[in-house]
Formats: sequence, structure tokens, C-alpha cells
Amino acid sequence: MTRILVVEDDDAIRSAVVRGLRDRGDAVATAATGLGGLEQVLKEQPEVVLLDLGLPDIDGLTLISMIRAASQVPIIVITAQDDDPTMVRALDSGADDYVVKPFGTDQVAARVRAVLRRGGRATSAAAPVLRVGGLTIDERARVATLDGRPLELTRKEFDLLLALASRPGEVVSKRDLLAEVWQQAYGGSDRTVDVHLSWLRRKLGESAAAPRYLLSVRGVGVRLVDPDEPAG
Ligand code: CA
Repeated sequence: MTRILVVEDDDAIRSAVVRGLRDRGDAVATAATGLGGLEQVLKEQPEVVLLDLGLPDIDGLTLISMIRAASQVPIIVITAQDDDPTMVRALDSGADDYVVKPFGTDQVAARVRAVLRRGGRATSAAAPVLRVGGLTIDERARVATLDGRPLELTRKEFDLLLALASRPGEVVSKRDLLAEVWQQAYGGSDRTVDVHLSWLRRKLGESAAAPRYLLSVRGVGVRLVDPDEPAG
């Protein structure tokens, strides 16, 4: 269960989001105005804020700055259209991610999980140590080991490994990795991911030609697997 605050003046959208999130077991508070939202942030201490940029009483970007002055709560911006300049400004103002209307609850829930993961907050009291084959990834201590030996990873290499280890076996797109690891929800180059993957591969003692843990799926993305476990 995640405590989520939804700040949205459109009744239909707000109810749909709230219903979807509550169905998933989240605790949802709402506000229909910017100042109401700010008050709720302070009062309810939500774990994530979903924030519509087009509010009746206050400019969304200003509101992000006001929230940031008081709280480090992750903010996911809701926007009416794919509007690059506004999104860039929102992210620069302190937003963590965004969704574009119309969006489904699954998409919002995935964004919520992603910002919480980035924030390093564990979903249970004890942060889990992820294990995939001989790899262990301790999210809280930010330590990864391979067959008992510590890996010397840069910050981004660790984040990349963590992002993949959080969903072992699942193909993760480079776009998702750019958004999660590099916070480049917009633009960003696949090349950034490729370069870091190749560095990570080297540290895991493997190569793209002879992969063990990191399997590239051409044109789709990459997945982390246990090399000793049969595929499928
Ligand atoms: Ca609106």
C-alpha cells in the first residue's frame, strides 16, 4: 500500500485515478486545487504526489517549487499533452516523472513504483536484498556482489543493475531505463544505456558476444537473468 495524493481539478479524471489506485490497495487522498494540494502534502505526508499541471488557482510549475520547498516527496506530473518544453521545466522544477493524458492506472502505478524505487524507499520495513543467480544487490547499502565478491560499480552502473534486478527475467526497454536510471523521461540516447551496459558487462566478467546475466533483446531492450536457470 502506498499513500498517494492526487491533485487534479477535473472531477472525472480525479475519480478515475482514485478508483484505479484504491482498487490496487493504495491509500489515496485528493485535492482539486493547488493550494489544497499543498496543504494536503503538509498534513497527510503522502509518499507520492500525482499533480495535474493545469490547476485553477495556481500555476503547476510554481506549485512544484512550493512543494519542493517543504518536502522531498516524489512528484509525478499529469499533463494534457506531450508538451516537451513544459515537461522539461516541470522536471527542472523538481518533478520526478510525468504521465500524459489519457493514461491508464497501470501506467500510473508503474510510475509510482519507479519513483519510489529511485527514492530508495523500500516497500517493506526491511529493504530486500535482491538475488539473481550469483548476484546480490543490496539496495539500501548500495552494495552489489557477484559470487560473494563485491563489484566496484559507479552510481549509474549500480542503479542500472538495480533497475534490472528489480524485475529479473523481464525485458526492460532502453527508454524505461533512461527514464528510471537517468531521469531522462524525455529524449536521452539509447547510446547512454548501451555504454553503461557494456561497462556493467565487463565488471560482471561477460561480453555482449558471450553474455551470461545481461541478455540484450535486439530492438526491444535488455533483461537480467540467472545464467544457471533454464530459459522460460
Ligand atoms: Ca486541469
